[in-house]
Amino acid sequence: MIETLKSADILLNILFQESSFKLLESINEISTSYIDRSDSRLQAAYDFKRQKHNAEVLIDYLSTDLSDVLNKKKLFITDVDIFRPQAEFVFGLSKSSGGEVAVVSTYRLKILDEELFISRFLKEALHELGHLFRLGHCQDKFCAMNLSLNLKDIDFKKIRFCRSCRKLLEESINDN
Ligand SMILES: [Zn+2]
Ligand SMILES: [Zn+2]
Repeated sequence: MIETLKSADILLNILFQESSFKLLESINEISTSYIDRSDSRLQAAYDFKRQKHNAEVLIDYLSTDLSDVLNKKKLFITDVDIFRPQAEFVFGLSKSSGGEVAVVSTYRLKILDEELFISRFLKEALHELGHLFRLGHCQDKFCAMNLSLNLKDIDFKKIRFCRSCRKLLEESINDN
């Protein structure tokens, strides 16, 4: 069941059916893709000591070849475990200086309950895209921009931005 969800197309279709994403999609600024395990950029970011992929290295690799999607914000999805030097793992990471790239890992979001898995994915994808639109972390525990350090945090928040983040997002979109 979860296997079928590995298909990026399925996840991305669900993603853009969400009302919070429609706002983003309408400006045609986002391109999304799935990074296959055989992708050399993923392999290059593998850290043998920690036996996981370094999200910061990965995002640098992903930022270098954006010629096909100039001016677009790119959201990559991967199913490998990713980490940052200061953290055991991260659910996702974004970088908006240089290339505008974000990555979300489904590795730690997986659970047999398909609906729960999808909602976790949507929250983290929305969170990383929010960063690409210059949103910072939000103190509102229900807001997608609240920082999630564990699954409990993710499950607590909603698949939407709070009122003030949404306002900032709209301003950011209008500035572009
Ligand atoms: Zn964040
Ligand atoms: Zn917020």
